[in-house]
Amino acid sequence: MIGRMPSSFRAAVVADPAGTLLALDFDGTLAHIVDDPTEAYAQERGLAALGRLGAVLGQIAIVTGRPVRQALELGGFVGRPGFENLIIYGQYGAERWHADSGDVGDSDRPEAIVRLAELLPTWLAEHGADHVRLEDKGLALAIHTRGIDPGLLETLAPPLRELAAELGLAVEPGRQVIELRAAGMDKGQAMRELVAETGARQVIFAGDDLGDLPAFDAVDELRSTGVAGLLICSASTEQDALVARADLVLDGPDEVATWLENLADEF
Ligand SMILES: [Mg+2]
Repeated sequence: MIGRMPSSFRAAVVADPAGTLLALDFDGTLAHIVDDPTEAYAQERGLAALGRLGAVLGQIAIVTGRPVRQALELGGFVGRPGFENLIIYGQYGAERWHADSGDVGDSDRPEAIVRLAELLPTWLAEHGADHVRLEDKGLALAIHTRGIDPGLLETLAPPLRELAAELGLAVEPGRQVIELRAAGMDKGQAMRELVAETGARQVIFAGDDLGDLPAFDAVDELRSTGVAGLLICSASTEQDALVARADLVLDGPDEVATWLENLADEF
């Protein structure tokens, strides 16, 4: 662990749990990253601690690049005590789910994504990359190279950015994955929405990858309006962009779980 939760922040959370929002990224933060992303289950200790916190804090949320349905499958949140009020933002905020209603809601597939899905297999073959794993997320397409060809993304990223620009899509780079999706929503927007809705006075956000930076920006902005914020980096050897921005650097999902347990022990 590098850094500490400031004692004033801890005291504010303990004194005002109902005014506290705790939002976590999923992959690399609550779940270990594994070669097969369909096997990236939430870490059990972290899940148990998050449930304990869900029972006392004003709001808990998962803010992830995954579709909500996948986060639900891998998270195992439904039916667990403490998750009755959970909100999940999926696909970087393009989808939203609340445990109350259980609805994911159907968003229309953007026309540019329809076109991309048609042309991407050929495009990848032309770029010597037809061995990647292509994931169709509905509102986005993701190209995964983990366990397949670790260095390939560096070569693919520049032409993919050109392709995205031609189609008017946003590029979301991650740990051995690059995603093309519609512009306009990001994790920062999700965090601003959550704070506006809940009126949270203390905000905690934890993430591990580049897609979490907009949420870090949002928490920094909120701090300037008087909301207390705590930014946590779930660190890895693959990505260090969040380290300098974080108040607290934890060693991956295991140490995130321990930190959540310690916070839950306050109540
Ligand atoms: Mg992540």
